[in-house]
Amino acid sequence: MIRVLRFRGRYVLLLAFLILTGYYTARIVVDGLENRRVSALSWSVANKLVVIDPGHGGIDPGSKGPGGVIEKDVTLEVSRKLATVLGQAGAVVLMTRETDVDLSDSEGGRLITRKREDLAKRVGMANERNADAFISVHVNSFKSGPREHGAQTFYQPGSKEGEKLAKSIQGELVRLLKNTKRRAKAVDYYTTRNAKMPAVIVEIGFISNPREERLMCDPDYQGKVAYAIYSGIVKYFASSATVTNGPVDKERALETFMNNEGKVFNAP
Ligand SMILES: [Zn+2]
Repeated sequence: MIRVLRFRGRYVLLLAFLILTGYYTARIVVDGLENRRVSALSWSVANKLVVIDPGHGGIDPGSKGPGGVIEKDVTLEVSRKLATVLGQAGAVVLMTRETDVDLSDSEGGRLITRKREDLAKRVGMANERNADAFISVHVNSFKSGPREHGAQTFYQPGSKEGEKLAKSIQGELVRLLKNTKRRAKAVDYYTTRNAKMPAVIVEIGFISNPREERLMCDPDYQGKVAYAIYSGIVKYFASSATVTNGPVDKERALETFMNNEGKVFNAP
């Protein structure tokens, strides 16, 4: 009886081992294939103007973690890495700030006025240049719940393209970071409300969670987050490529459409 049990125990362990190995191998293979698909689609961001906004800066530090990490420093590092990977794929990248500054003019003015001015300038940079996307990088904080965790992407309620972009980025954060099941969410923010292009706020994790506070300072993890955001942007532009591919001559497009009404056009 005991021998049989031992034998069965070993058998069950071996089976469990095989199933787990199989599962993780399959996951690695699927992930690898998906990453290859993203690099094959990277053409979709070529010549797109992407404005990256590292949240806070200068007089405005943003949130602070229990270990003393400050939001404005983390957002700048992740934004720099995002700018690099987007630039390598051929996107035209503009950062709203590249150092520890805020963008307000009224030196010594009231903090709330300076903050409003700062945000208006950030979104203004994207609007003036007709950017194709506005990506604002932030961290989340929930002091009364230190175990709250996970990256989350926000978009302006009612913005269809903003929602599409946010869902695409959130999907890649979930797939690549493997530590959250959070979903993209509609929230009314000043920047996303005033941006004329698809705009999102990516909160890359909870600085109030000691584990995530440490992670978001790790250059490898920052690189992973940046790649996930990039990957979401690539997939978003690839999926809307037939609509926004290159400058469109509206009159000619209309003429072509009138002359060929009823015909189905294949994607280029
Ligand atoms: Zn913030």
